[in-house]
Amino acid sequence: MGFLQDNLIPIFKKRELTFKESYKESDNVHTFVFEKEKDITWKAGQYGLFGITHKKIKNATKPFSLASAPSENVIKISTIIREKPSEFKKALLELQQGMKVNMSGPLGPFYLKDNSRTLLIAGGIGITPFRSILKQVEAEGTEVGNRIHLLYLDSQKSHLFKNEIDGIADNTSMSITYLDSSDELHSELDKFIALNKDNGKYYVAGPKAMVGSITTYLQNKKVSKRNITKDSFFGYS
Ligand SMILES: Cc1cc2nc3c(=O)[nH]c(=O)nc-3n(C[C@H](O)[C@H](O)[C@H](O)COP(=O)(O)OP(=O)(O)OC[C@H]3O[C@@H](n4cnc5c(N)ncnc54)[C@H](O)[C@@H]3O)c2cc1C
Repeated sequence: MGFLQDNLIPIFKKRELTFKESYKESDNVHTFVFEKEKDITWKAGQYGLFGITHKKIKNATKPFSLASAPSENVIKISTIIREKPSEFKKALLELQQGMKVNMSGPLGPFYLKDNSRTLLIAGGIGITPFRSILKQVEAEGTEVGNRIHLLYLDSQKSHLFKNEIDGIADNTSMSITYLDSSDELHSELDKFIALNKDNGKYYVAGPKAMVGSITTYLQNKKVSKRNITKDSFFGYS
């Protein structure tokens, strides 16, 4: 799938989504659930551009990974909402059942593309596209699971979606390592690189700075750029 197909053409596919409900996943992470119209689909791992429509705000459109899989019957996004949220996040919190938001997309090349040994690397909120990917692997019941390992770094140790992800690991042959420090992450990366050399595929998602530093680490260990797919959540400092 090319650049146009993943990035440009879908931008013009704008649709309305109907809000169903929201709930807290943890102290400061909220999930927002929208109805999934029959004609919408996406590749697990992709994101949408979500637009607030019920009031006028600055920066009314922001990208969010679709945390639900195409095999699920809803569209979900999960996001951090701290003490002084942006206008955008305040507006998300105001949504009531039946209200609408816009979504353009689905967008981006962040989805599994082949059957290589694959290392998924999530930093904090960067777990959202992987929830979708893993749910889809589970739904398809494919053998792809045994080629997938998830490294999930969360320095707060709250590890969002842990129960669900553990459930997926039980139902498939994928494996997970939960981490809470960069040192641990580096040692796990070293192990995977030693086993797979430059034949593995690496998917990295999370706040921009974290994705940048992991990518640099991988490249310093001679992993080629072409084997690294990134989802940089710019917008988080
Ligand atoms: C492809 C892509 C996918 C994305 N997917 C997701 C996703 O699934 N989930 C998601 O949450 N975001 C995702 N993002 C980022 C998202 O678009 C927003 O940029 C991000 O959530 C920040 O939102 P906000 O600017 O509305 O502000 P807020 O979260 O309200 O924060 C505004 C600013 O203040 C800082 N800030 C807020 N509170 C504190 C605090 N207590 N201490 C220190 N700093 C603070 C933030 O870091 C940020 O710089 C994605 C981005 C991209 C490009």
